[in-house]
Amino acid sequence: MDCETDEELLELVERARKYTDQGKVASYIPALERAEQNDLSLALYYTDGKCLKAGDVEKKFTLQSVSKVLALALAIMDRGENEVFQKVGMEPTGDPFNSIAKLETQIPAKPLNPMINAGALVVSNMISGTSIHEKLGRLLALVHDMTNNSSIDIDLEVAKSEFETAHLNRSLCYFMKQHGIVEGDVEELIELYTKQCAIQVTCYDLARIGMILANKGTDPKTKRKILPERIATIVKTFMVTCGMYNASGEFAIQVGIPSKSGVSGAILSLVPPSLGIGVYGPSLNEKGNSIGGVKLLEMLSQRYDLSIF
Ligand code: GLN
Repeated sequence: MDCETDEELLELVERARKYTDQGKVASYIPALERAEQNDLSLALYYTDGKCLKAGDVEKKFTLQSVSKVLALALAIMDRGENEVFQKVGMEPTGDPFNSIAKLETQIPAKPLNPMINAGALVVSNMISGTSIHEKLGRLLALVHDMTNNSSIDIDLEVAKSEFETAHLNRSLCYFMKQHGIVEGDVEELIELYTKQCAIQVTCYDLARIGMILANKGTDPKTKRKILPERIATIVKTFMVTCGMYNASGEFAIQVGIPSKSGVSGAILSLVPPSLGIGVYGPSLNEKGNSIGGVKLLEMLSQRYDLSIF
């Protein structure tokens, strides 16, 4: 991997690292508790192939909710926009990512967007394939193409740990199955979803995924269209409106960089048309976003005037 350490970025990382003591590593998925609270790293990947880094950008972590962006892109490629958005909405919720509340108050019981757990479960349910293995293989193939890294695989220990404790996600699925939104076997869907969330990457991989999205779905090096431009646009827009859970509005104002976070501490970010950003910092704030990562993106946005607004 060809990625240079940048002194200015290192300085920002060190400043943002001070906030990591104020957060907490996720523990509701027991295997995530192994993470080191003060870790914080950043990679920037540009369409011209330039890469800058600060911190240990080779450290591995799981995608968690960042996978929702990729699963959505694949489900739309498989089923088309109309079918996907018949089952999941396009509106922010203002509720925590794992909330069940709106499912009962909305009629039909269709999740409000694909970035909350209920919506992401419906999306995973729409990935084409005759087995979990085939569906996951297709999702991994997309991740391999976007990262140009075919060694990316699933952290089976994290997947198992979440599978054994995903009671709330099971509840969401059974509720939606009752209302005809989720189809098929719920245990299989939970297995697919927890494995999807346990795809293991580095900051560098995230930055390259962001770069491909910033470049409208095309790999600038090979000129290969990995995602149709329209699908890249849809997922980027969801990153702005719902990507940081119920902190998306504040994040849009303070940072203004399309981003998707995960409870592992991952943040996938991008600045159209040429920059992808990968951040990892497992200490989370009360909304479940990386506390150091959010600070770091805020500083980065201010220093380099990166807000898209
Ligand atoms: N796998 C996690 C869950 O479903 C993903 C949530 C997240 O990253 N916010 O709880």
